[in-house]
Amino acid sequence: MSSQIMIEAKNLSKFYEGKIALSSLSFSIERGEMVALIGPSGAGKTTLLNTFATLVKPDEGELNIAGIPVNQLNKRKSLAKKVGMIRQQFDLVGQLPVIHNVLAGRLADWGFFKSLWSLIIPQERQAAYQALEKVGLTEKITEQTSKLSGGEQQRVALARLLLQKPEIILADEPVASLDPARAEDILFMLTELVREKDQTLVTSLHSVEYARKYFTRIIAIKNGKLFFDLPVHEVTDSLLGNLYSIKELERHES
Ligand code: ADP
Ligand code: MG
Repeated sequence: MSSQIMIEAKNLSKFYEGKIALSSLSFSIERGEMVALIGPSGAGKTTLLNTFATLVKPDEGELNIAGIPVNQLNKRKSLAKKVGMIRQQFDLVGQLPVIHNVLAGRLADWGFFKSLWSLIIPQERQAAYQALEKVGLTEKITEQTSKLSGGEQQRVALARLLLQKPEIILADEPVASLDPARAEDILFMLTELVREKDQTLVTSLHSVEYARKYFTRIIAIKNGKLFFDLPVHEVTDSLLGNLYSIKELERHES
């Protein structure tokens, strides 16, 4: 079977008031890949994920998502159905019951409020129940979302992705606010779901250990530039040491 390129960046750059956030990045990511995006704070990880989500517009270069050039803004709606996002702050609506937040995944092409307040017909309830079953949270289906723990809320976000069925999942530090056991629980579930559905996953992470344990490829960026892009088994400790090194900074300061 021939591979399908899901994300393709060519010389992608982004500047903020003359400051470089992304510097001429080029790579492609195929269907089924699980990519961890690592690098020091300020490296450009969030900016890069936001360009994939079409929330940030690149200043230079080309970007294709699921074969669609992102500068064709009239195609944004079709992209919204193909791309799902999950973040550190969960971005769920806290006052609403869990089931509403899960069903929000179903309705990428409805208006935001319409999706949240829509009547829940039994068939949809069944779908939400099945998704919550998958993440082990059925007993919380009617609970107010904000009353759940951080780990549980991130599982609600996973259940929402199950209903959305995006081809590409982008996650920005999805486990940064969880304790290690909860973090591993979420990463295990997320990567299992992606594998099962042959989706494509790009996740920024603080932890190199998790990147190595759960992902197939690591893209490292530093100061907006590609530092390395390797299959996980080729990533060495010395490369990682250089990635997070602050030697240059110390030299400037002394
Ligand atoms: P990371 O997620 O790797 O920590 P970011 O993508 O958030 O890095 O930031 C990359 C660089 O771009 C940083 O220097 C940051 O200060 C800058 N930056 C990000 N977003 C903005 C913005 N909206 N306005 C100005 N500068 C920004
Ligand atoms: Mg970030």
